[in-house]
Amino acid sequence: MSTALDPRLIGPMHQNDEDDEEFFDAEEDEEGEEDEEGGEDSDEEPTYSTSDSDDIVKEVKANFFARDRKPKRMVCPFSYPFRANPCLSHAEPKSRKDVIEKHLLKVKSNGGDEQHHLNDPLWQSFDVVWFLTPRPKFTPKTRRRAKGSAQSRYYQKRKEKQEKEEADAKRKLDEGIIGEDEYKKYLIGDKRRKFIVETATERRVRAEMQSQMESVREEMETRLLDERKLRDDIEKKLQDLRTQGTSSGNRPSAENARAIASLESARKELDDSKISDETYKELLQDHAENVVNFWADDGFLEATDQTYLEYHGFEWPQDVSAASFYTFATLLRPRSDWDGQIRSDSSRRHMQKELREYVESERENVAGSDEDVAALNDIVQTFTSSCDLIKEGEARAAEMSPEGAQRWLDEQDKLWNAAKVTFQSRFKLDSQPPLHHFRLVNDFADTWRAQKVAWQTHLTARAQATGLV
Ligand SMILES: [Zn+2]
Repeated sequence: MSTALDPRLIGPMHQNDEDDEEFFDAEEDEEGEEDEEGGEDSDEEPTYSTSDSDDIVKEVKANFFARDRKPKRMVCPFSYPFRANPCLSHAEPKSRKDVIEKHLLKVKSNGGDEQHHLNDPLWQSFDVVWFLTPRPKFTPKTRRRAKGSAQSRYYQKRKEKQEKEEADAKRKLDEGIIGEDEYKKYLIGDKRRKFIVETATERRVRAEMQSQMESVREEMETRLLDERKLRDDIEKKLQDLRTQGTSSGNRPSAENARAIASLESARKELDDSKISDETYKELLQDHAENVVNFWADDGFLEATDQTYLEYHGFEWPQDVSAASFYTFATLLRPRSDWDGQIRSDSSRRHMQKELREYVESERENVAGSDEDVAALNDIVQTFTSSCDLIKEGEARAAEMSPEGAQRWLDEQDKLWNAAKVTFQSRFKLDSQPPLHHFRLVNDFADTWRAQKVAWQTHLTARAQATGLV
């Protein structure tokens, strides 16, 4: 075993240059925490390398950052408790590696002392050489770190550019100067993803509405054409009957006169039934508005394109919790059952079914948007997991002492009451007396029935008129 000192361990190259020191400071502190946790490991005797000093230096350099190799604590290795005459001045952990490094260098340049004999094989151990070896300048880790901060600087620059230019680009997009693809270039991260989803959704909704309106328009046109043709036929027939009477120089025959009279009456019936049908339809429109306004305020129907839940600021719970379970319950259980066994198996089954039906119908509305479908699935998942949580809580409560079980029940009652209060204040479903509700439903039903009769009358009038021409 060589006891000669490697000159590289004591030479002036040991002094880290200023830049290096600063660069490594953060890492030193960060790793210091772990060093202290594993402190007791140093009570075990380390294995000494028997290779010559060149090899141990190479080994230390190659494993400088290896957590299982480097010294567990920032203490002088000569202070390890198993030693006969341990170093006392540096036995307590220091915050920095270079404190120990300077201590060892000083002892060494003074020719060693009682605790640190120069011929001690410990000088060739991994731990001591580690303290005496300057940190390698570039490791893959530090290189990644340097690169990472450069990337974040780039991101920062892009973000600043985006904020400056986005407003301008949005204006150009609105004015049709640039297209969506060009506009997208000014967006990053969340904003960019959101824009892409929004435009896709908007395009889909626009296409659906266009095709729906197209088919409604076609149907109305066909109906209008039929009706117009019927009227034209009636006018033409009347014209014919009247001319027949005069062109022959004779007075119109009695048969002719009768035909003219019935045609004129059919025409009048057609007009009247049409007017009453349309009047009832207009009334129905008003009533429909009243019915909707009974559940929501005036702003909902006309001023927004939001769903009922959105308009009332409701969002499905996203975290799995007992509170979430009760929020679900306010929407999924009839209010007449609110005072019953809200957590029972049967109650939970009904809620599952209700939510499944809701999600199924919503899924049709959002067809084509993966994101929306995923959000709907999340709602079901959150509810199912919250149900499980309640079930587990119930099972645990059954095992508790009467006092413990009562505490659990009280806690659940508190959560359920809070959910009910939130529901009542959000949706305001009971803001009018029931009689008001009944009158509204009566008016609506009366008009609906009257309109149905008027429409039937109109169809009969049309059939009669058609039979005459
Ligand atoms: Zn020491």
